Order: sequence, then C-alpha cells, then structure tokens
Amino acid sequence: MNATPTAEIWFLTGSQGLYGPETLAQVADQSRRIADQLAALPGGPVRVVWKPVLTDASAIIGTVLEANADAGCVGLIAWMHTFSPAKMWIGGLDLLRKPLLHLHTQANVELPWSTIDMDFMNLNQAAHGDREFGYIQSRIGVARKTVAGHVTDPHVGRRIHAWMRAALGHAALRRLRLARFGDNMRDVAVTEGDKVEAQLRFGVSVNTYGVNDLVEAVDSSSDADVTALVEEYADAYRLDPALGRDGDRHNSLRYAARIELGLRAFLDNGSFGAFTTNFEDLGGLRQLPGLAVQRLMADGYGFGGEGDWKTATLLHTVKAMGTGLPGGTSFMEDYTYHLAPGSELILGAHMLEVCPSIAAGRPSCEIHPLGIGGREDPVRLVFDAAPGPAVVVGLADMGDRFRLVANQIEIVDPVEPLPALPVARAVWRPAPNLHTSAEAWLTAGGPHHTVLSTAIGAEELTDLADLLGTELLMIDAGTDIRQFTKEIRWNQAYYRLARGL
Ligand code: MN
Repeated sequence: MNATPTAEIWFLTGSQGLYGPETLAQVADQSRRIADQLAALPGGPVRVVWKPVLTDASAIIGTVLEANADAGCVGLIAWMHTFSPAKMWIGGLDLLRKPLLHLHTQANVELPWSTIDMDFMNLNQAAHGDREFGYIQSRIGVARKTVAGHVTDPHVGRRIHAWMRAALGHAALRRLRLARFGDNMRDVAVTEGDKVEAQLRFGVSVNTYGVNDLVEAVDSSSDADVTALVEEYADAYRLDPALGRDGDRHNSLRYAARIELGLRAFLDNGSFGAFTTNFEDLGGLRQLPGLAVQRLMADGYGFGGEGDWKTATLLHTVKAMGTGLPGGTSFMEDYTYHLAPGSELILGAHMLEVCPSIAAGRPSCEIHPLGIGGREDPVRLVFDAAPGPAVVVGLADMGDRFRLVANQIEIVDPVEPLPALPVARAVWRPAPNLHTSAEAWLTAGGPHHTVLSTAIGAEELTDLADLLGTELLMIDAGTDIRQFTKEIRWNQAYYRLARGL
C-alpha cells in the first residue's frame, strides 16, 4: 500500500497587529496552549502541529500553499483568537485544497467576572472574531466543519476527532490506487460507475489488469513462503482438519496461501491500496480468492467483489478513518431477511469475502464447494460478526454525481447457530426498523454491496461526505420515509445547482 506519512493537522490562529506585539505574544501563548490541550485529548488520531499566529494576507496564503503541498498535512484547524479582519483570509481560503475545521473556542473556560477589563475583552474576542471568519467562509463557499466550545469539553473533542478521522479518509482516498482483476460482473448495474469522475472528485485511480498477470504472481511464490504462511494460518485460525498438514485437502490450503502471496506481491509492487475480483474472469486461478481477500482486508486493503471498485474504494477509505480504533470494517452484502414481525433482521454475508476484523471470535478456516466460478473449492474463514453498534454505507453513481447511502445498525448474535452456512456473516437490526430502512435504502437507489464498520460512525461519515462534496443520505433512528423521500427530491435539485447550471 502507499504508506501514509505521519498524518498531521495544522493549528492556525488568526489575529491582527492592532493591539501591539505584547498582545500578539499573549495570543501566541494562549493558542499554543489550546493546540496542546487538543493534542493531549485521548484518542486523537493525528498529530496536532501549532503554527505561528497569522496577521496578514501574505502569511495566510503562504501557510495555505505550504499545507496544500505537504503530504503529511491532512487538514487545517482555524481559530480567530482576537478579531482577525477576514478580507486577509480571502486569498488563502480561495487557494485551500485541504480539509478545514473552524474551531470556535476561547482560551478561558470561565469569565473572570471580578477582574475583567478592556484589555481582557480585546484579547479574548473570538466570539465576534470567529463570526467574521464564519462570514467570509460562507461568502466564499468554503466547505468546512464548524465546532463550537472549549477544547476540554469532551463533546467538542469527539466532534473534532470525528473530523480528523474523515480527514484521514480523505487523504487516503486522494492517493489511492486501485487494481481491478477483470471487469464488472456481466449485466450488473450498480457496481458500474464513472472512473474519471471518481478520480477527479475523490482522487482514486482505478485501472484494470489482466487476471493472468495476477496468476503469474501467484505461480511465482516460493514453496518455502507458502509453507511459512500455511503455518501462520494454523496458528491464527481453527483449522479444518482436512486442510491440516496430514489432511486430504492440504494442497487446497497451500494454493490459497499461494494466492495470498501473489496477490499481496502484486498489490505492493504497484502501490495499490484496493482491488476487485470477478468470479466470471478467473483466468488460470484454480480457486476464487477467498481467504487471501479476507486477510488482505484485515490489513487495510479495500476490496469489492464482482468488479465493484466503488465499494473497494470506500472500504479502504473507511479503514483508513478507523485506524487505531477498536472494532472492524468489512466488505458486506445484504443477503436475506428474517421477517418475524417485531424482530426483523438482516443477514449479510458474501460468497467468501468478509473481513475477519469484525469477527466475534477466532475464525474457522474451512473449505467448501462454491456453486459459481467453475473452479476448485475455495478456502475461506467462517465466523459470526461481533455484536454492537455499527454502520453500513454504500456508494452509487447516479449518472450526474455520486451518492452515499448509510444506515445505522445494531449487529446482534444470530437468533440460532448457523451450522450449515459455510461463509462469514453478520446479522443486524437496521435503524429505525427493517421496513423503513429497506424502503429508504431502495428509494435512495443504494447498492447491495456496502462497507460495514463497527469502528467509525455516522458523524465521521457525514464529515467525509462533506469533505468530498458528495451527497450522503443517512438512515437512522429518526428516519421517516415521507421526509426521507422529500430529502432525496430536494437533493436532486441541490446537487445540480451546487455544481452549476
Ligand atoms: Mn456481491
């Protein structure tokens, strides 16, 4: 994968020269303290880098251009400590290409009621300094997240961290290279899309490779490496005895390991962070890649089945957003329903490719026949997803733009064990209930392939959509189908207007 440089957020402070150098020294001191407090919050996913106080247009433009060019800088936080006349920000904001968060805070939590004087008032006037800044951002049309409150307030910290994670996803997406082995599954519509528009809007570069280029990499992996990897499997998973060293299917496991080695080498040689396969186009591959795909997803690679490069792109992005968090993120597909009145559930899975990062326990490594693909039986990991709150999100191409559709869900234990189901799966209760969720999803034209994450939630996804300037329809506990349908209609008009007539 194209490794992320150490990610940083730059902390910018706006002021002006009106109150003299002594005041500016106090501003610098206080803004450094706020940046330090922000950096010290537990769970922060990026480094916070304080930058010298900005008091004129040329310094602002200089800092913005530096941020644009710096691969490690994934976004800017701006705070107008004292009044910073906003015309000086026009040039810089107009040039800005990195995510922006407007932090509306102040140095002190409480007012010093008994000692407050005009010096204090002049030093601590973010209440109107940030209004000036809010105006100019709105006037220019700068996309940003606005967060108000003291940085020591946990709610403020959570909102900022969510945006930082969205900024990490944004940065990962901008440099993502995706390899497709084969094209789209024949006749499937929703997995198609405009790759040129995706590269312009998201940054991801999507290209197709002959599956036999992959076969070459698979066939050239060494026997010693295969043996070592097979031992790793035996340590990591409950291994079906038939796949063990003395089992009659052991060669199938060795071939699965060979696929993983070849796939990993191919992706790493090309700096690819995501890939797709298509069971209709397997060339000289003897098995449909199952175990290999599952393990690569666990390492952060994006994946989409049936040539689905949009879901593969989204999966890599959401994994980057969830870096370091508990929980996991997987490729997913809505498969079938439990329609018992009052306790409706969705059973999600795929033919093979569900990421073990969402597993409840130690996965079982098994081999079973697969009805499609026309190849040898593929090896796969089988498990239930761990219960807990999660989100599913899908990306559709509506012709004139991309649309994200998401649903807040609760993963639950299967009602009963599923001993005859030979694939990894997740069972969940969608919010607000299955009827509304499914009606809303279908009305939105959301895809059947999704990314399921227990690591990140609705706020991170909303921030990501805003950073990408992409529509997001969120189905949650408050969703009402009539209102949701209107939102879709209004969005049709809004997104057309927002992109110009
Ligand atoms: Mn599928």
